[in-house]
Amino acid sequence: MDYGEFPHILAGLIYAVFCTCFIFSTNEFQAIGLTVESVFSKFIRDEKTDFILHHIQRMCYTLMVHTILPFGYVLLHMKMTNSGFEIFKLNPDDPWGQICLSLYCHTSVLVPMMSYIYICYWKRGNFHCHPIREQLETFVTQAEPSWHLIAVSISNEFRRNDTLVLRLGTTGRLIVTHSWLIKVSMYNVQFALQRQCSITCVDSDIHGISPDGLQNVQYLTIKVAHTGPYVNLRRDGGEGFSFRINSSDFSTLSDHLRNTSITILPHVSFHKSRLQSFLAEFRTFIASNPIHSVDEDPELCIGCMNERAEVKLVRLCEDSAERENQCGSCQCRPMWCIECMGKWFALRQDQNSPHTWMSAQCTCPMCRATFCLVDVCPVMKRPAPAQS
Ligand SMILES: [Zn+2]
Ligand SMILES: [Zn+2]
Ligand SMILES: [Zn+2]
Repeated sequence: MDYGEFPHILAGLIYAVFCTCFIFSTNEFQAIGLTVESVFSKFIRDEKTDFILHHIQRMCYTLMVHTILPFGYVLLHMKMTNSGFEIFKLNPDDPWGQICLSLYCHTSVLVPMMSYIYICYWKRGNFHCHPIREQLETFVTQAEPSWHLIAVSISNEFRRNDTLVLRLGTTGRLIVTHSWLIKVSMYNVQFALQRQCSITCVDSDIHGISPDGLQNVQYLTIKVAHTGPYVNLRRDGGEGFSFRINSSDFSTLSDHLRNTSITILPHVSFHKSRLQSFLAEFRTFIASNPIHSVDEDPELCIGCMNERAEVKLVRLCEDSAERENQCGSCQCRPMWCIECMGKWFALRQDQNSPHTWMSAQCTCPMCRATFCLVDVCPVMKRPAPAQS
């Protein structure tokens, strides 16, 4: 077959794209089962059955497969240029390109061999030197005197329904079980015992996902440091690990941490979601509207059943030629708190143009009468007449 003038460049580009998608297991590759875990599923224990053994085996296979990938290009090059084993020949008189290619070929054979030796080193004495076992051994106590018992208890906790799994980037995961916090990454798994660690939100950064900056996503950097009686004996000096999560996952994460809580450093501020910032503006606007007095204490809000009703719709705005629908008059008694009314209002607006919300209209949740923000009046109980 004719592959053009520079077959090795074409082959290199195709192969580089393939390797990138494979290593970072893109959705397409996951869908067709082209990931290390699915290809070697027969040899890797299921994560639900044995969490620790699964990750020990997964790390070994991942290291082996990823280090073999460069050799794939050598095979591809040999096939496309019909050069056979010629490309391995190292001749000082050859042009630089040829020498580099030959060195690449030798390295691509050497690296998987070294990684195989490294995996054998890990495997010695029932994974005695494997980083996962080394880590678990630092949690050995009198109650759980061996790493096996800890591994079993982690597996049992992982199987429970209340385990939280959050995605970290493209390949990582954060797993929160009843008593553990586990960060799974491509070549490592890190553990922290919730009752023996401190979790601190140390930084935040905001990224715009829409050009007008209206839809932003905030990431929080969270550091986990080991505490507890034997922290000085740990190899990492108790340094622990850190991870970044989307700020929308923060409350889910802190709800799942049963044995510890997250400290937020004073300089970290949480970015308000679009709805939250609208509700704040809504509240300020309503507060400046005329007060609607009532004789009795308002009943509970029928939206949340938590707050007292705080607003009444009273037609106060003037007819405007710019509006298609003029506001109507609502006869409903006060039934909603400001927050529920604000959410009702926001959810019925054009979600792509939040800057128009404050001047927009909506319909009463009960009688469907049209209203605008000018018509939403705060409710207050009339003071009882002074007794003479
Ligand atoms: Zn409410
Ligand atoms: Zn109404
Ligand atoms: Zn109005």
